[in-house]
Amino acid sequence: MRSDEGGRRMPTTGRDRRPPPKRAPAEPNGQRFGAHMSIAGGLERAFEAGLTAGCDCMQIFVKNQRQWSAGPLSDETVERFRAAAGETGIGPVIAHATYLINLASPDAVLRRRSVAALSDELRRCARLGVPFLVVHPGAHMGAGVASGIARIISSLNAVHRRVDEGVEVLLETTAGQGSSIGHEVEHLARIIDGVREPRRLGVCVDTCHVFAAGYDLRKAKGYAQLADELDRLIGVDRVRCLHVNDSKGACGSRLDRHEHIGRGRIGRVGFSHILNDARFTQVPRILETPKGMDGRGRDWDRENLRRLRSLVTSTDRR
Ligand code: ZN
Ligand code: MN
Ligand code: MN
Repeated sequence: MRSDEGGRRMPTTGRDRRPPPKRAPAEPNGQRFGAHMSIAGGLERAFEAGLTAGCDCMQIFVKNQRQWSAGPLSDETVERFRAAAGETGIGPVIAHATYLINLASPDAVLRRRSVAALSDELRRCARLGVPFLVVHPGAHMGAGVASGIARIISSLNAVHRRVDEGVEVLLETTAGQGSSIGHEVEHLARIIDGVREPRRLGVCVDTCHVFAAGYDLRKAKGYAQLADELDRLIGVDRVRCLHVNDSKGACGSRLDRHEHIGRGRIGRVGFSHILNDARFTQVPRILETPKGMDGRGRDWDRENLRRLRSLVTSTDRR
């Protein structure tokens, strides 16, 4: 994801004036929609913001995403976080790892740092009760896809040796910008098949990324190609998270630029194939679109969530 809301402050509505928390709404067919939420002001603050935006589930960073390391989580923080999760009913909460991590780096020092950082984030997730951690597979930096994949495999094996099993690492599909690996479903399959403990890995499909990588989600045929590859090479059961973003770049442009739902090249109806595929209805859908207000003063997350939900042709609504 590329959005610049990392340092943005949440609007503060005095704690005492806050209405009692509502529960996250239940979706028809069990579909859950949410967005990436800021942790500015404290990890548990993301839940309040999530409720306001209308999230059933959400994604967060479990530390400052621009730094390699962070101080340990206090017991108090963990308690507040778990309490907010219980009160709001927002879940699952999915974590996104720092962008600094490159498990494919040809530089051994950077690779070791990446292994340490990912391991630390997994431990943080375990304490918070966060079941999934999304990470970009990595960039080979000119060394080539094959050696990049080999390095990712050995890095993930190292992470798995260091950290107890529990939190799943989700490899995200990429747009194929620069030397990034993961713009073909087959790349992810080779990584999963290559590690010693494949059961500890899952996949996160980003609609903007796969579209930019050349899978044309707008067309039945293009979508079928993506779904078939996921099914045949990885297994649809391994898809744990959908990042639902429209794309500023054209299909095949390899440009990783997110756009509001319906405002980009995928377009509103372009999302209906994936949103209505019965194989993925149980998979949480997370927005990583730009934040802020639209021209009419409406919160963009609320608006994008509304647009997504309106595209679901559930049996309940038919
Ligand atoms: Zn992205
Ligand atoms: Mn994404
Ligand atoms: Mn991402």
